[in-house]
Amino acid sequence: MLDTRRIRPDFPILAQQENGQRLVYLDNAATSQKPLRVIDAITHFYSHHNANVHRGAYALAVEATEAYEAARTAIARFVNAWAREGVVFTRGTTESINLVAGSWGRANVKGGDTVVVTAMDHHSNIVPWQILCQEKGATLRMVEITKDGRIDLADFGRALEAKPKIVAFPYVSNSLGTVNPAAQLSKLAHAAGAVTVVDGAQSSPHLRVDVQALDCDFYALSGHKMLGPMGSGALVAKPALLEAMPPYHGGGEMIERVWDDRSSWNKIPHKFEGGTPNVEAAVGLGAAIAYLEQLGMDKVSEHEQELARVAIDRLSQIEGVTIYGPRDHRAGVVPFTYGDIHPHDLATILDKDGVCIRAGHHCTQPLMRRLGVAATARASFYIYNDLDDIDALVTAVRKAGELFGVLAS
Ligand code: PLP
Repeated sequence: MLDTRRIRPDFPILAQQENGQRLVYLDNAATSQKPLRVIDAITHFYSHHNANVHRGAYALAVEATEAYEAARTAIARFVNAWAREGVVFTRGTTESINLVAGSWGRANVKGGDTVVVTAMDHHSNIVPWQILCQEKGATLRMVEITKDGRIDLADFGRALEAKPKIVAFPYVSNSLGTVNPAAQLSKLAHAAGAVTVVDGAQSSPHLRVDVQALDCDFYALSGHKMLGPMGSGALVAKPALLEAMPPYHGGGEMIERVWDDRSSWNKIPHKFEGGTPNVEAAVGLGAAIAYLEQLGMDKVSEHEQELARVAIDRLSQIEGVTIYGPRDHRAGVVPFTYGDIHPHDLATILDKDGVCIRAGHHCTQPLMRRLGVAATARASFYIYNDLDDIDALVTAVRKAGELFGVLAS
C-alpha cells in the first residue's frame, strides 16, 4: 500500500476537522482533494506567468502559452494519447462527451440510426446521447447489466446487431465500482462498425490508462477527480476523427480566417477550444498528473483496491448492510445500503463523526431503477485514505445502526 503518512501532509485540507473530528474524506468519486503542488502551481502561474495564451508577442504571453501547452503534453503522456493534438481541453467529462455528441454525433448520426449506452452509465454519458437521438430521430439503446453489476455481454452483443453509429460506456462505474473490459467492448463495437466513446471520469484518477491499447475513438476525463482543479478536463481523441469533425463552439482562437459570411477553422486541437481557455485549470491539472506519476498509477490502483477490499469485508460483517457491485474487478468505490436507514440520513449521521460519504442516485438513475433502490450510500477512496479511515467509517456505520435501531431488510 502507499505510505499515507507521507502523502497526507501534502493535502492541507486533511489537517482540518469536520464537526470537531478527524476529517475522513470518502467522497473521492465526486471530487478529490488537492495537494499543495497543484495549489502552488496555480498560485505560481498567476504570480509569475499570467497572460492570455496563443496571442501575445511578448515574453509573458509566451510563458503562459508554454505552461498551457505543457499541460496538454502531460495529459497526452498520462493516457498514452495518439498525439498531443488529439487532446482537447474541456471543463471535464461532461463537456467532453457533449463535444463528441454535438460535433461528431450531429455530423454523422441520422434518423433511424442507433446509439448504444449502458445501464451503468453516468447521466453525462446518457443525456447528451438522448438529446442527439431526439434531434435526429435516432434510437438510444441501453445495454443491461448483470445481477453482479457488470455489463451484460450477451445484451451488448444483441445491441450491436443494430449496427450502431456510436457505442458509449464507462471504463469504471461511479455507482458500482465495476472496472469494465473496455478494450474488449471497444473491439466488439468496432467490429460492428461503431465509433466508441469511453467515459474515463473514474478510470483516469485510479488506473493506468492507455487509450491506444483500449483502441477507443474518444476518451473523456475530469481533472478535478484526479487531484486537479475544478473545471479542468480533456477529450482525448484519434486525431483523424477530430480533423474531420465540425467545430463545437464558435468564437476567437478556433478560426483560421473569418470573412463576412463564413470562416475557416484553426488546426486541431484549437478548432475545439474557442474563447479564452481555463489556463489555471490546465496548469493545475498538469501538476496533478506530475504528482500521480511520481506515485505510480499501478501503486495508486493497488492501494485503493486494498482499501475497498477491507471496507467491503468489514461492512459486510454488519447485519443489514448490502454492498452493491461485483466482488472482483472493481475500483475503490464501495456502494452500500444499511437496512431501512435512508442513505441520506446515514450520510448526515456519519458526518457528525467527521466521515464524508455520498448518498443519492450518484447521477445514475437508470442504474438505481435496475438495482431496485432510490439511492445508495457510497464510500470512495483515494491515495490519502488509510485503514484508520475505514475504521472510522465502520465505527460510524455501526453507531448509526444503534441510533436507528436498524432492522435487516
Ligand atoms: N462520468 C462518471 C462515471 C462520473 O463519475 C462523473 C462524475 O461524477 C462524470 C461522468 C461527470 O464528470 P464531470 O462532472 O467532472 O463532468
